[in-house]
Amino acid sequence: MGVSPNGDEGENDVDEGMRVARIRDGTVIDHVRAGQALNVLRVLGIDGGGGDTVSVGMNVPSDRLGEKDVVKVEGRELSQAEVDVISLIAPDATVNLIRDYGVVEKRRVSRPDRVAGVVSCPNPRCITTANEPVDAAFEVLADGLRCEYCDTVVRGEITDHLAE
Ligand code: ZN
Repeated sequence: MGVSPNGDEGENDVDEGMRVARIRDGTVIDHVRAGQALNVLRVLGIDGGGGDTVSVGMNVPSDRLGEKDVVKVEGRELSQAEVDVISLIAPDATVNLIRDYGVVEKRRVSRPDRVAGVVSCPNPRCITTANEPVDAAFEVLADGLRCEYCDTVVRGEITDHLAE
């Protein structure tokens, strides 16, 4: 197969900007705000070391956003927890599930009330950062995330606080 410049877009590539290779099975995260693609990869735990096949388009022209980033991950479907955190850094994103080169599910992300399991609490005394089997969970505020266990508020770059 390989990376042919698909003449028949529309399936995999939702709109303009067919700058990134199609994938067979996996997830396309489209309409990511320009500049956020690498943070999306960080949320997904992709650092190039895990053998994931990933295509990234940055600053792709977009009708809706002016410029956007696109992330395509081969052979991977996202958990709801991952989608929830992506929605915080890429609120306009669409998450497209691809099977056999076709979009089988397409959803806009929506800002969750709560995120759990992806972000870790920055408070070293928080029960979630001790060796307890407790996943950090946060209430989503307008300008940050509040730990449900210790009330510490995470502001700024969420991706600086990703769980391992
Ligand atoms: Zn905490």
